[in-house]
Amino acid sequence: MDPDELRQTFRELGARVYTALRDGGLEAGLLVELACLVEDWTVSTPATRELLERRTAELTAADVLRLGGALLDEVNFVPTYALEPALFAELEEDLKVVERDLRATGVTGTLRMVIPDWDSMGMAWVEFDGAFQGNGIPPGAGGVLNVADAAQEAIMEVIWRAWPVCPVHDRGLYTEAENETAVWRCTADEGHTVAPIGEFPPLPRRRGRVR
Ligand SMILES: [Zn+2]
Repeated sequence: MDPDELRQTFRELGARVYTALRDGGLEAGLLVELACLVEDWTVSTPATRELLERRTAELTAADVLRLGGALLDEVNFVPTYALEPALFAELEEDLKVVERDLRATGVTGTLRMVIPDWDSMGMAWVEFDGAFQGNGIPPGAGGVLNVADAAQEAIMEVIWRAWPVCPVHDRGLYTEAENETAVWRCTADEGHTVAPIGEFPPLPRRRGRVR
């Protein structure tokens, strides 16, 4: 098999193992098939070695579950959004948090998470008023901070000015993780935190200033 075929077969087998682990019914044979493929790809892991060294018939149901989980971890298998819709739903929830800040700052427009047809990698993108900008979000790479970064790029592309801006210094903000909370930071005054993402202070009145 050429590398593309290997990759495709790996995705398909990985998806079957992932689904069977999640929904039940994982069979040892399928797991051994995946282990062979992974080793053909010149990657040997503790789980592939155990799967190939032991007799398949000797593997207990508990072994199969343990080795299935270990193998997917070891090869960094990440399900697609299609395979694990919960990953996409999480992004939508994260985007709702960011949207609170958008509305608090008086910006209108439709903000949503989509998986566009044109992205052959199957990534999720933030769409703002029909526009895309920056990079897509691969499955498993969500979180409020990453979604806020992606949203910020799409929003700024459309409104054509910095967003959000510091209420004190009128300077464009950036995202940062602060004690595991995603926050908006300002670079003025040696740097200060404006608000956790999703808790932006509502402006007393709309600022119409354009840079
Ligand atoms: Zn500031």
